[in-house]
Amino acid sequence: MEEKRLLRITGRVQETPEAYTFTLEPADGRPYDYRPGQYLSLIFDRNGREERRAYSFSTCPGVDDLPAITVKRVVNGEYSNRLIKRAEPGDTLPATPANGRFLLPERPVDTLVYLAAGSGITPVMGHLKCLLAAKKTGTKAKAPKILLLYASRDSRSTIFKAQIDRWIAEFPGRFECTYFFSREKDVAHALFRHLNNGLFEQQLLRYFGAAVTARHKKSTLFYLCAPTALMRMATMTLRVLDFPDDSIIKETFVPDKNLPSRVINPNVTHTIVATGNNERIEFQTFEDETILGAALRLGIALPYS
Ligand SMILES: Cc1cc2nc3c(=O)[nH]c(=O)nc-3n(C[C@H](O)[C@H](O)[C@H](O)COP(=O)(O)OP(=O)(O)OC[C@H]3O[C@@H](n4cnc5c(N)ncnc54)[C@H](O)[C@@H]3O)c2cc1C
Repeated sequence: MEEKRLLRITGRVQETPEAYTFTLEPADGRPYDYRPGQYLSLIFDRNGREERRAYSFSTCPGVDDLPAITVKRVVNGEYSNRLIKRAEPGDTLPATPANGRFLLPERPVDTLVYLAAGSGITPVMGHLKCLLAAKKTGTKAKAPKILLLYASRDSRSTIFKAQIDRWIAEFPGRFECTYFFSREKDVAHALFRHLNNGLFEQQLLRYFGAAVTARHKKSTLFYLCAPTALMRMATMTLRVLDFPDDSIIKETFVPDKNLPSRVINPNVTHTIVATGNNERIEFQTFEDETILGAALRLGIALPYS
């Protein structure tokens, strides 16, 4: 059900003290297709057991020659540290095909608003490269306006800051960015503030001209890639401002720990039917395991990250 690919590292660039970009090429010579905003899962072997970590592409096909991922070190994180410390050009990494629904809109829209924090900028970068490079290639029709709200500790730890600053200068009136720094003052385009509901709402009202109109609600898309608490706060604010739920697209790097708990009976089983790639697989799960856990236990290769 799931194809695996082998990717070779062709380049390694330090973006910040904690983040590195790895350029990848398919080791089998077949093209590796992906869309901006998607991710791949790297597949690691841990004593014969498979472990996966997902990384979003920070590149855009057609703009960048090869796909690249940007990995930020997580304190005590096993594989982010291993990649940053040891992965070098020439190494090969088993990976899944590209996956994910954090995709550019298929219909024309007036405005795209991005909310990113830390490594959450990675899939956003893929979008921005496509959107802002499109102008240079002459596809000017209906170029949307873009607002980026980007939270980090300080400018030194802000991934892709130099490129974003160049775009701010290059696309006035089309591309706007406000940084939120928790540990640094007096930086251009930056507020020395933690992003919260009030500040998020204030930024949107400033951008949309004090009142959110029906046209704004119809023709704005919001892309959120940040810690779950920040994304929950942003979603609540957008609901209060009456933006429709289907205008909000989210990428989640870590599972939400605040899921409601319920009583589980471990003796109860459920029948799961998985379909995809012209296949149909039926299997049983116990109530105290996840669908993915059951599939792995039964040796069924479902795509996952
Ligand atoms: C769709 C998607 C896209 C993603 N894209 C990106 C991306 O573009 N860039 C990026 O950098 N990341 C991205 N991620 C996150 C990435 O997949 C990993 O989760 C991240 O790199 C951490 O993996 P790790 O193996 O280093 O950490 P893990 O080993 O999984 O550790 C995770 C957490 O557990 C804690 N921990 C680990 N071991 C212990 C222990 N023994 N005791 C206590 N705490 C412990 C760590 O401190 C850490 O906070 C993405 C995730 C998803 C789902």
